[in-house]
Amino acid sequence: MADTIFGRIIRKEIPARIEHEDELCIAFHDVAPQAPVHVLVIPRRPIPSLADAAAGDEPLLGHLVLVATRLARALGLADGYRLVVNCGRDGGQSVDHLHVHLLGGRRLGWPPG
Ligand code: 5GP
Repeated sequence: MADTIFGRIIRKEIPARIEHEDELCIAFHDVAPQAPVHVLVIPRRPIPSLADAAAGDEPLLGHLVLVATRLARALGLADGYRLVVNCGRDGGQSVDHLHVHLLGGRRLGWPPG
């Protein structure tokens, strides 16, 4: 697959405010935050989108979600938060490297646009 800006963040070729790193994933603050807390949790392995995830990716996907929930606690989102995975053009995905958005710190509207 083609490299993306997130590949460059994983390789530390461009800076990011990193909150968490482990052998499977990395989490960093979004450069254009849509809420007081807006963190992206991404796998080190560059799966392009949720539509490209396979059965063997179940543990990885679960790990991304649980890392996001741990970060939510660590970042003080005691009143709630939202996890979002945009998938494909209609889903609003703009970077073709699977990522989970963690959004919180304000009351979020529903439904999303
Ligand atoms: P998507 O629209 O694909 O669901 O989300 C991509 C997110 O990546 C957007 O919220 C965008 O602001 C963020 N983003 C794009 N380029 C960069 C970057 O270079 N650094 C960081 N930290 N976030 C980025």
